[in-house]
Amino acid sequence: MGRVMGKVFIQTYGCQMNEYDTDKMFELLGTQNYTPASSMDEADLVLLNTCSVRDKAEQKVYSELGRMRRLKKQNPNVKIGVGGCVAQQEGVKILKRAENVDFVFGTDNLFELPEILKETEKGARPVQINRLAPRQKVRDFIPDFSTSASNLPALKAHLAITKGCNNFCSFCVVPLTRGTEVSRSPQNILEEANRLCDNGTREICLLGQNVNSYHANGVDFVELLQQLDGIKNLERIRFTSPHPKDFHPKLADAMASLPSVCEQLHLPLQSGSNEVLKRMRRWYTTQTYLEKVEMFRSRMPEGTISTDLIVGYPGETEEDFQKTLEMMQEVRFDLIYAFKFSIRPGTRAAEEENQLSDQIKSERLRILLETHERILREKQELMVGSRQEVLVEGPHPRETGNMSGRTRGNHSVMVRGTEGLSGSLLPVKITGFRTYLLEAEAA
Ligand code: SF4
Repeated sequence: MGRVMGKVFIQTYGCQMNEYDTDKMFELLGTQNYTPASSMDEADLVLLNTCSVRDKAEQKVYSELGRMRRLKKQNPNVKIGVGGCVAQQEGVKILKRAENVDFVFGTDNLFELPEILKETEKGARPVQINRLAPRQKVRDFIPDFSTSASNLPALKAHLAITKGCNNFCSFCVVPLTRGTEVSRSPQNILEEANRLCDNGTREICLLGQNVNSYHANGVDFVELLQQLDGIKNLERIRFTSPHPKDFHPKLADAMASLPSVCEQLHLPLQSGSNEVLKRMRRWYTTQTYLEKVEMFRSRMPEGTISTDLIVGYPGETEEDFQKTLEMMQEVRFDLIYAFKFSIRPGTRAAEEENQLSDQIKSERLRILLETHERILREKQELMVGSRQEVLVEGPHPRETGNMSGRTRGNHSVMVRGTEGLSGSLLPVKITGFRTYLLEAEAA
């Protein structure tokens, strides 16, 4: 055993990519003999892994740092670091505005944490936000779980296959905070997936900001899925988020034919108005989007489709919004992630005229969510009596005598049973439903 460095607490905001980065930080810090702390107050090292996708993200980080002043009073030796997308954008400004922060690291720099920590021990306040040069290799890091500071691996795991994005959708800050797209080598991805599955993982969700544009060493996304499908004990593969423009028949065929790839597609629509889609720089129309839906459903009629929607994009008229509602009725999504448009500094949409009032955006969001709840209820009713396969994850947090899990279509399911079922693939019959939850019994 090496020298114990102390305890680390990581506060994570935002998307699955940030959660994945947090796992990587835990694993990396495990190699430096850090163990997890159960709260900030007992930690020797506190990291904020920040997100800048939502409104007023910077202010929220500064408020949190203000609340964290007490930590240095309790323990003057505690080190505080800020990483993630806000760190990438704000850089040295964070050190100037928050005196309690010891270091700042960007989205490409988390693997430099050991060196950064050494500098802080010498009294420096480093800011490391250098980007990977375009086409530079992504730093490959295969965790060694014997030294991990997190509780990995889990039954379900995320695995990032690309970072960054080349699309520059008008509303999105990702290309500015995470840079342009870089794909990891297939060898490295397979090695990480094998390691996860050897340690108990049964479901892997591949992550990328535009996951289906993956391409490295002559291997494209479909070929990567084919290689991953061969891994022993890997029961389920999901991926998020694919861009509709890169969803094609070859990928739909692979989803339908590869046993471990789930019949579940997250296909971000964003708006049902072609006018708005054009200004969003999405590079598809509602017509071509519907063709992709048909491409998927003709091969997997029982498959599920979820989407992302933005209401209140600058200049969105009542007619544009009605078209989004029409698309909801047409596609009948199984799940939606709907948001009010909010300005992200540095994006094209921030400069657009005709920004809508919060009142209009809130009202449209309310109507959208209500419309979807009606569709969801109808779809859930149709599922009652059907047979599904559930990957049982563990006891239900509130309902004793029940277990929680998910179908291949990613429906959340509560099934009667005991803890011995954890980790199993259980055939079930759907007996009822609540909002966003199906009830089931073993079939
Ligand atoms: S494809 Fe996704 S990550 Fe890339 S710019 Fe568009 S919204 Fe952002």
